[in-house]
Amino acid sequence: MVNLIGWNFDNSYIDLPKTFYSAVQPGKVAAPEITILNRQLAEELGLKSDELMQPEGIAVLSGNELPDGSASIAQAYAGHQFGHFTMLGDGRATLIGEQITPEKKRVDIQLKGAGVTPYSRGGDGRAALGPMLREYLISEAMNSLGIPTSRSLAVVQTGEDVIREQSLPGAILTRVAESHLRIGTFQYARQWSELDELKALADYSLARHFPEAATRPNRYIELFKEVVTRQAKLIAKWNLVGFVHGVMNTDNMTISGETIDYGPCAFIDQYVPTAVFSSIDRHGRYAYNQQKPVAIWNLARLAEALLPLVEGDKDTVLKQFQALLYYFSDCYQDQWLNGMRGKLGILEPEAEDEALIHQLLEIMEKHKADYTHTFRALTLTDYRDQDWFETEDFKRWEKLWKLRLKKQNQSSGQILQQMKQSNPAIIPRNYLVEQVLEEAVSQDNLVPFKQFLSALQDPYAYSEEQERYAMPAPTDQGNYQTFCGT
Ligand code: AMP
Ligand code: MG
Repeated sequence: MVNLIGWNFDNSYIDLPKTFYSAVQPGKVAAPEITILNRQLAEELGLKSDELMQPEGIAVLSGNELPDGSASIAQAYAGHQFGHFTMLGDGRATLIGEQITPEKKRVDIQLKGAGVTPYSRGGDGRAALGPMLREYLISEAMNSLGIPTSRSLAVVQTGEDVIREQSLPGAILTRVAESHLRIGTFQYARQWSELDELKALADYSLARHFPEAATRPNRYIELFKEVVTRQAKLIAKWNLVGFVHGVMNTDNMTISGETIDYGPCAFIDQYVPTAVFSSIDRHGRYAYNQQKPVAIWNLARLAEALLPLVEGDKDTVLKQFQALLYYFSDCYQDQWLNGMRGKLGILEPEAEDEALIHQLLEIMEKHKADYTHTFRALTLTDYRDQDWFETEDFKRWEKLWKLRLKKQNQSSGQILQQMKQSNPAIIPRNYLVEQVLEEAVSQDNLVPFKQFLSALQDPYAYSEEQERYAMPAPTDQGNYQTFCGT
């Protein structure tokens, strides 16, 4: 068959020892129909959108056919889920191949919801339309916010129902990522594989993501350092936009430093440091303000897995890993502090900035201020509609902030520009996400979803189109709760 679509697979993962995957075929589905296709991403991948919309294209996106060059597998991994170690693996995802893009980038093409695999553990291997559209919307919004993430190429409805608490329309998401290597992949190797298999995984990860680090002495320590750095930057960025991942199990934390697995994630509305949205996170393990310590905990699990690979005196090696876990905090703090400075228009850093930032956060917490809206309001100096800007607390802080800005040798235009590019005018607000999903799933009306998606494409634009999405949720919305959506 002539490859009109542009699939250009080169599959490197299958050269790893066989213990790391199982060959699987995606399950066939009855009546695939495309719900949404990401034309821009398709182009970046070297794929022709018009062809992907044809039956041959949809057949691939639904798992009914595999393109030439595909090596379809489910990956094996383990992980700590809410602190409990367990064997996992792709239970409902099939990796159909690694696409080499026109820019010579290598990315995984994965079908999420493509049927059972040897790792399904009794699950049906399928996914429902609502959660797949939710992942599509939020992952694409995260990408536009400038946050490393897996991408979403398409959602295809299967024409079959999936049974959860109720019967729901089934769907498959085509997920694209630099890789799906996880901390849990290393934990799996450490627990159940031979040392040379663990070594093969570490060398593969270095070659795929950190080729430069692979050439340095002590390369497994270097691997760890790279992952620590990427994760520290990632999680600081989450914090800066108010993102709560919701299920930071070690199997959901990548080696590449991309955000993956948008299950019960949410953005904070009011600034509540302890915010939790996931219905199953009863003890707040993955609360907004726990993401940093949890990331360090997860990385300690990666360190344990890598330990046997590093030669030398055991105490010295342990100290090296420990030092890098402390380094996470430095790296995170740098990223966060500079990010916060940017949000306040501070371009010439000073040590006192941190105190000014914390003062603002404290009064935001006290007055239950909306996180995203506050920074948008500061950017536009538009304090309408939100009573808390009338408080003495805010007015006192604002004076200090204005004085601080005057100390810089920067024009108001430069400050405004800095603030606009640091403070998204809009985010995927929980109540809006729910609204557009409800329309899409229950009313079969994708228009509001697509409009919202389009507005989220450049969250820093401050365009007119975005204004209707910028306001905080009506206060009568109650507590927002998310579900894993499996
Ligand atoms: P997640 O919460 O999406 O990170 O999934 C955790 C684990 O459960 C992974 O091993 C998934 O592959 C598996 N899983 C989630 N949903 C299903 C399903 N419907 N059928 C089979 N396995 C699933
Ligand atoms: Mg997962």
